Amino acid sequence: MLQPSGKRAKRRAALKENIRLGPLAASAKCAIPGCGRQTMKAARQGLAPHHCRRHVEHRQRHGSYWRPSFKASELRPFITAATAYVGLRAANDKFIAAAIADMGRALEDAGPVELATRLKGMSATKRAKIGLARLRVEGVPPQRIVSIVLAVSALTRTDTTAPRTREFRTVQIAKAIQRLASGTHRIWEVEDHQGRKRRTEMHVYPKSTGRVLREMGRMLEPPSLELVVEKHVAGVLAHRQRYGRPRAAS
Ligand SMILES: [Zn+2]
Repeated sequence: MLQPSGKRAKRRAALKENIRLGPLAASAKCAIPGCGRQTMKAARQGLAPHHCRRHVEHRQRHGSYWRPSFKASELRPFITAATAYVGLRAANDKFIAAAIADMGRALEDAGPVELATRLKGMSATKRAKIGLARLRVEGVPPQRIVSIVLAVSALTRTDTTAPRTREFRTVQIAKAIQRLASGTHRIWEVEDHQGRKRRTEMHVYPKSTGRVLREMGRMLEPPSLELVVEKHVAGVLAHRQRYGRPRAAS
């Protein structure tokens, strides 16, 4: 049999590659403008047909291919407004009261806590539950969680650069709430050979990536809380407009 010429071999290889990628992935480059990297599928790194590894990982961590998570400083004024707003209504707004009660139940039902160091190999659902249990053990009031969900929803609605997807909001809520309690901290003293005491500290934070964040976010969005978001996000924004003071220039 005749060996195909170099040119022909190349064309055949290109054709084979196109068949492997399939009709949905005809372009081998990442779909994010300006990225230019190979898609994971093209690079044989995974199944993602339209995005490169870096952008796929970005989405896992932040809930968006391109938008970084809200910074604590971006979120803070909205948490202040939502906390005050919820505080004024916790007792007599039946929607807010119901959401707080549901959230309290979710924390109670989350089961025992585990040391962060023992989480390896556990399912995402179990890790997410432990995340909730930790909030309970650290004494985070359910009302605080309701306020944070409202704050993230309000910021997502006003920030024109924030994706409008549910996924982004869910991940942002989980991240903001995880910041409240998310580590195992140990401090102990050791003596060296000369009898001097030295303090050693260890801080272990479970990695807040991917499925755990989404599972946690899902647990933090019971239907009653969705109703609160629907009815009160506009109120939180108005509250912030009225009472939130721009930082004084100095
Ligand atoms: Zn990319």
